[in-house]
Amino acid sequence: MADRQGGTQKWCPNCAAVTVVKAIVIEAAHTLTIDEPLMQRVIYRIGKEEVHYFRRGQQCQDCFHEWLSAEVPEGLIRELVDLKDRIDTQNAEASSKQSENRNLRLV
Ligand SMILES: [Zn+2]
Repeated sequence: MADRQGGTQKWCPNCAAVTVVKAIVIEAAHTLTIDEPLMQRVIYRIGKEEVHYFRRGQQCQDCFHEWLSAEVPEGLIRELVDLKDRIDTQNAEASSKQSENRNLRLV
């Protein structure tokens, strides 16, 4: 919800805190599509039929950092977190095995 401060409270990646964030037009938001009308908010697909997102420019009203955000259905975020957890587990297991192999070579 927009408030009287000129934006919505959201997470600023630069401040690493919740700040007042304003929706803005960022030119880069329009460079990845061809023949798209110049709009602040555009629905994009990135190669996967099931992945659509709502892109918009954001500007922190504390530090004026600008970035693009992508609004997706929450189920997609859960799926991405589950997949990242699996990858992190696989990487930790692979790292542990490499460490064991190094220790065996030293013995
Ligand atoms: Zn900020």
